[in-house]
Amino acid sequence: MITNVKLLKKETIARDTMAFYFEKPAGFEFRAGQFADYTLINPPETDEEGNTRGFSFITAPFEANIGAATRMRDTAFKRVLKDLAIGDEVKLDGPYGDFTLHKTESTPAVFIIGGIGVTPVRSMVAQAAHDRTQHKIILIHANRILEDAPFKLDFERLAEQNHNFRYIPVVTDEAPTTSKLEHGRVDEAMLKRYIAELNSPIYYLSGPEAMVKAIRQLLVGLKVNEDNIRTEEFAGY
Ligand SMILES: Cc1cc2nc3c(=O)[nH]c(=O)nc-3n(C[C@H](O)[C@H](O)[C@H](O)COP(=O)(O)OP(=O)(O)OC[C@H]3O[C@@H](n4cnc5c(N)ncnc54)[C@H](O)[C@@H]3O)c2cc1C
Repeated sequence: MITNVKLLKKETIARDTMAFYFEKPAGFEFRAGQFADYTLINPPETDEEGNTRGFSFITAPFEANIGAATRMRDTAFKRVLKDLAIGDEVKLDGPYGDFTLHKTESTPAVFIIGGIGVTPVRSMVAQAAHDRTQHKIILIHANRILEDAPFKLDFERLAEQNHNFRYIPVVTDEAPTTSKLEHGRVDEAMLKRYIAELNSPIYYLSGPEAMVKAIRQLLVGLKVNEDNIRTEEFAGY
């Protein structure tokens, strides 16, 4: 579907990171984990990357609105996006993608995510909690510092609501302040602390290209079947 959507709300959700919520068009359907292309309409400035970016849905299909979240870097697109007024419209083209939760509920899901790559996971975990699916879900979410972690409160709330969901924030660049926080790069020892059988889950990797590649290599080195590794690379980070 290609249609214009109206901005309803914008908010800062982590350091230099904003969420934008839009009116859901009538009849618009998508699956948790998918994304859409957003195009600015007659923007006051542009650059060589153009007026369109792809963003995953942060909202789940059961929720009333659709939303996207992004790191607010200093590009023409993001300056214009940040300055949109409530009620302004952007063009939405979507949904696209198949980075969606597998159907077999007895197979666990392990998300190993870097930074803003967590956007589709917010949608999938919220929908799974809403549908009361029986998937065991682990989210290992790495950020440089805790302030960079989008949806931390959301994930904590979802873990309380859904006992099949476990949220493990990881910080790579700061000393941990509590024992609940993992510290340092995601490695074999960290995975083994949370995953009893490395070969039983389906793994979902999302984030900056370099991180996705490194985690895939780690898993393959641990003899995880590559058919059970699904990835979404966020080009541009
Ligand atoms: C399927 C899919 C889903 C995606 N979902 C999301 C999402 O949910 N949220 C999200 O934020 N992004 C998502 N992305 C990435 C998104 O589409 C953009 O590519 C990204 O946000 C970068 O846009 P930009 O305007 O900041 O940089 P662009 O203007 O597109 O420039 C990107 C290039 O410039 C460099 N660059 C620009 N600014 C800086 C800077 N300040 N520091 C270092 N390098 C810089 C980058 O390294 C890169 O090479 C997704 C991508 C895909 C393919």
